[in-house]
Amino acid sequence: MIDDLLPLVSRPSRYIGKEVNTHRKDPAVAKLRFALAFPDLYEIGMSYVGLHLLYHLLNSLEGVVCERVFSPWFDMEERLRSREIPLMSLESRIPLREFDIIGFSLQYELTYTNVLNILDLGGLPLRASERDEDLPLVIAGGPCAMQPEPLAEFVDAFLLGEAEEALPEMLRVYREWKEARGTKDELLAALSGIKGVYVPSLFSVDYDEEGKVKGIHPLKEGYEEVRRRALQRIDSTPYPTHPIVPFAKAVHDRLSLEVVRGCSRGCRFCQAGFIYRPLRERDPQVLLEVIDESLRNTGYDELSLLALSVGDCTYLPPLVRYLMARYGQEKVALSLPSLRVGTLAEDLIEEIKKVRKTGFTLAPEAATERLQRVINKIVPEEEVLSTAKKAFGAGWRLLKLYFMVGLPTEGEEDVKEILLLSRKVASRGGHVNVSVSTFVPKAHTPFQWERMIDLEEIAERHRLLKRELRGRRLRLKWHDPKMSFLEGVFSRGDRRLGAVLLEAHRRGCRFDGWTEHLKWPKWQEAFEAAGLDPKFYLRERDEGEILPWSHLKTGVKEDYLASERQRAYRGETTEECRPSCRRCGVCRDGEEVSLAAPFTPPPLPRGVREVVHRRPWVKKIRARFLKLQQMRYLGHLEMVDAFIRALRRAGVPLRYSEGFHPLPRLVFTNPLPVGVESLAEFVDVEISRYIRPAEFQERLNAQLPEGIKVVEAWEMAFKGGSLPNLFREDVFLVPLEGWSGPEEAERTIRAKVESGQLLFEIEKRGKQRTVDLLSFIEEIKVVPLEAFSPLVPLPPDVPPLGELLGEGWVLKMRVKKGLKPFYLLQALFDLSQEEAKLRRVLKVESLPPLI
Ligand code: SF4
Repeated sequence: MIDDLLPLVSRPSRYIGKEVNTHRKDPAVAKLRFALAFPDLYEIGMSYVGLHLLYHLLNSLEGVVCERVFSPWFDMEERLRSREIPLMSLESRIPLREFDIIGFSLQYELTYTNVLNILDLGGLPLRASERDEDLPLVIAGGPCAMQPEPLAEFVDAFLLGEAEEALPEMLRVYREWKEARGTKDELLAALSGIKGVYVPSLFSVDYDEEGKVKGIHPLKEGYEEVRRRALQRIDSTPYPTHPIVPFAKAVHDRLSLEVVRGCSRGCRFCQAGFIYRPLRERDPQVLLEVIDESLRNTGYDELSLLALSVGDCTYLPPLVRYLMARYGQEKVALSLPSLRVGTLAEDLIEEIKKVRKTGFTLAPEAATERLQRVINKIVPEEEVLSTAKKAFGAGWRLLKLYFMVGLPTEGEEDVKEILLLSRKVASRGGHVNVSVSTFVPKAHTPFQWERMIDLEEIAERHRLLKRELRGRRLRLKWHDPKMSFLEGVFSRGDRRLGAVLLEAHRRGCRFDGWTEHLKWPKWQEAFEAAGLDPKFYLRERDEGEILPWSHLKTGVKEDYLASERQRAYRGETTEECRPSCRRCGVCRDGEEVSLAAPFTPPPLPRGVREVVHRRPWVKKIRARFLKLQQMRYLGHLEMVDAFIRALRRAGVPLRYSEGFHPLPRLVFTNPLPVGVESLAEFVDVEISRYIRPAEFQERLNAQLPEGIKVVEAWEMAFKGGSLPNLFREDVFLVPLEGWSGPEEAERTIRAKVESGQLLFEIEKRGKQRTVDLLSFIEEIKVVPLEAFSPLVPLPPDVPPLGELLGEGWVLKMRVKKGLKPFYLLQALFDLSQEEAKLRRVLKVESLPPLI
């Protein structure tokens, strides 16, 4: 089982499942089991709002169980393969093959080898044609599904566009087919009847002698093209108010809410701006309810409002002011990650900084006005500089600037201007991180026909930037050119690239979007083995050429894209399509721009005051808690986060530190090594309003994840020393059953101790040092469990030791604080690191006892 591997892998918390707000539906009685698969690490996948939306949407359907699957990291994959354990879902550990449907979320082309790897680890044939009706149906959606040809061989059906309505329709069709015991061909034919569903095997593609697509031929009558799905009203499906709170820190570790879908701006390089048209705003009154419930249900202290350009949201200013007034007192910070320069008024900057200064990013993309006109994103230099001045003036010390190189018509002066502009921004009083990526032409945009610059040209631009980089406050970062190159190949590639993916996967390519894991020589071999030249896919396309995605429609007319391209070459901008439509073709059949009605924020609830920075009246509560079962795999910081969020959900009035980044004033005992369980963890919590310790305990226990439990809580004086300094020793018990007899263990220990030295190599932050572990041992002996009793009796809520460790003999180790018990097991019993980590270790007390 996967659980047996948890002690042996890095960051086991990403494989635990059982996070707060996961669904606990019984898969045994489900009519349909759906595996929601994200082809990247847990920490990345859990940051995607779409994943949370789908998870809750699917689980809200009667008879459907949806569970998550992520790409396992290299160490986990190695162990799964060596022990022939199939990849399983997080929630109920269901092997992938036992699902009805596996649905991939495709966010990025460089996750395609991970898609194959997930199928492979699940024991499924990779090619769709090799999977019959007894195996799961494999579907995929997300932005990459709008041009999914490189994956056409592996995926049974793609969902183009928005899933809220179309996915339940697919599931209904699947269930009907399942009940009728149809063939796979019948299923695919039925699915292809749903608007937005693209079944690649129902098209054949041929190529001319140059390798260009010659024709795309439907194999089913009336199925010439597939149009993307879009919701007419994005509020028509309920927004989940119980998003899962991950244990392992997600890349975006906060409550994220979509406020607007689509964008009216028409930046010519931006695929999202074209494939999510038209612009639709969520109803702010509904949003307020969702925010309130979600904060209460998660305990997050940061809220992120998402949109392609959130500054364009018509009700943003009153919404931000209301949110800061409503939640500032609870120290909920606000972040607006997609602000266009010039859309953030000075008073909003002041509002946002009231709680915490979340990241501040400006994305001009191009530095010269000429090039900005080409890409249709005008960001006047004066506005960049004045926004920077406002932000630095309001206390931000660091700004991030985003630029692209390789844009159509770009010249040397455009590249040099990136640094000139960045220097000017830094001169407004702060540090600047300049992030430079390479322009990748994307399907369904006005630049879909453009040539992409190759590796040598990318390197030239980087050399130029490096040479010209001056200024102490500037830091330059660029996106790995080889990753951009591959993204360029796959984002406009055809079906033949499936052979390259197979070869690359076979050669061990995984996590290609992670610079340190991109195996460039393997990719070169894969292209060679498949007989394809990757540069072929970077070339400029004729406007009359059949593109690999010509049969897949966003609704934006092709001649609109072509006219936008011509306008780009003439340096002409196109106004945003609000209030005046630009006739791109999307708005028809009920799809149209929809703006929210004028928003008047409701009155603040009674008792809510604006942020106060006065020091509140405080008390301190000390609590003893258990960390058992799967919770042993939480690292210290993960456990702290889980604890803080539980306190917030429980409504405990926390006291916060002052300053740039206010944090709840909590102090824990020394970090417990990952993998060790404990009956004796302590925390001091400062509170700003009185609450009885018994109530504190009860409310907190109702919110803590299973395995962490407060067993005692009492009021503390502020004096009395810091918690981590109170203890000098820890006592651990290790059951011997299954790996050593008591006499044998005792003999081994005696021999080691009598030798006078117990040398052990410890690696810390990349440095090795040898320590004599005997100097850490206060007492070590083998005892029957019933003969062990702690110095201070265990609180009544602690489960009996026999229940936790099994009756039998245990190794009792009393050691100086800070020593990892696994080291001692390794040194005493000549165990490998792996063997030691597989032993169950329970910390029973810390000494001296707290009276
Ligand atoms: S049809 Fe008009 S309003 Fe609708 S997305 Fe296109 S340009 Fe904008």
